[in-house]
Amino acid sequence: MSTLRHMPSTPPSQHRSLQGKAALVTGASSGIGREIALELARRGAVVGVNYIGKPDAAQEVVQAIANEQGKALACEADVSKAADVTRMVSDFIKQAGRIDVLVNNAGIEEESPFLEKTEEEWDKVMAVNLKGPFLCTQMAARSMAKTGGGTIINISSVHEDLPFPGYASYCAAKGGLRMLCRDLALELAPHKINVVNVAPGAIATPINLRTLQDPEKKLALIREIPLGRIGEPSDVAKLVCYLASDDASYITGTTVVIDGGLMHQTGSL
Ligand code: NAP
Repeated sequence: MSTLRHMPSTPPSQHRSLQGKAALVTGASSGIGREIALELARRGAVVGVNYIGKPDAAQEVVQAIANEQGKALACEADVSKAADVTRMVSDFIKQAGRIDVLVNNAGIEEESPFLEKTEEEWDKVMAVNLKGPFLCTQMAARSMAKTGGGTIINISSVHEDLPFPGYASYCAAKGGLRMLCRDLALELAPHKINVVNVAPGAIATPINLRTLQDPEKKLALIREIPLGRIGEPSDVAKLVCYLASDDASYITGTTVVIDGGLMHQTGSL
């Protein structure tokens, strides 16, 4: 007993819980996706770092992973375009040998009063935030079904439930992602493919820059969060790594909220 007690504990980030797995992360050149890619690689996964417009940012993530002795490759694609997604997923499978985990993280938000919202804005948000996960999941799941299963993780939002005036397209897309998760969990269960949503609250990333740079808005936001802080991308990344691991193999068709208590504060849970 005393020997066990004195054994040094391995820091959680060094657990190789994803050794042998291949994981593709969309929108991984920035914010939450970047941190998910880094953390998946720390736990042993070979990681596909998807990007759309910023090859240098994606290359920086690939290099950061290599610097920590991890394996990663940059994968260019617009997730809203079927031809791009088909090419990206098949190239990734060719290079990594397989795909075990897909993280549908790429997302955008556009703010405007509903009465002034344009068709173009609506279509753009829907295309990236909802059609993107459909296309990527279909391509990845076709392969997973042949190789014995896998895990699809959608980075949704508390706004899959919580209304957000000015962001009707974003809320509708994330609400759609909520049902896509529940529906696909049933349809893909016979193929041993788990489908889970992660719903972050406020996380410090470029998507929130305007709020984070405005001291008054930032303080008002923090007051809404019972834990008293804005979340970090690493908070979400560690949860995603758990969901991607075999330890989470009995979780499917549900949303895991990670929001410092925000939704309870607003009465939405
Ligand atoms: P971010 O830093 O702006 O990252 C979004 C990423 O998506 C960027 O890498 C962006 O690439 C990429 N992207 C955009 N359109 C794309 C497309 N058509 N194809 C491929 N990639 C595309 O924001 P983030 O906060 O990390 O957001 C990541 C996810 O978390 C989103 O789904 C967002 O809705 C969700 N989320 C964020 C928060 C938060 O508070 N931050 C809260 C809840 C949910 P470029 O940089 O090249 O445009």
